[in-house]
Amino acid sequence: MMINVKTTARTQLIDITARIQEKIDASGIKDGVCLVYVPHTTAGVTINENADPNVRVDIETVLDRMVPWEAGYRHLEGNSAAHVKSTLVGASELVAIEGGRLVLGTWQSIFFCEFDGARSRKVVLKFM
Ligand code: ZN
Repeated sequence: MMINVKTTARTQLIDITARIQEKIDASGIKDGVCLVYVPHTTAGVTINENADPNVRVDIETVLDRMVPWEAGYRHLEGNSAAHVKSTLVGASELVAIEGGRLVLGTWQSIFFCEFDGARSRKVVLKFM
């Protein structure tokens, strides 16, 4: 199962929780786990706060500070920073499903993390 995500900026954290929940609803699964997997080398997925949008901005800012776009990288494609950020953030999350709902804290959402946009992306979902 898959969802498509269209990103509109080089770096962007997009809340995909509701779209994942829709797929869980459609599947009828009540208890288990949901694998959220990003099959890209310059994007990732993370779980963090959804209430204050500045948290997203701060995460992007700190990642930019840690991994500057230009830093004498060897990779000729010119997007090494995005590859490094993808590895730092990770390509998957595993979230429990109980009573047909993703088990997330009050302030938690699942964010698709774009690091080399804008692009059309995919997120693979697997319910177990
Ligand atoms: Zn590359």
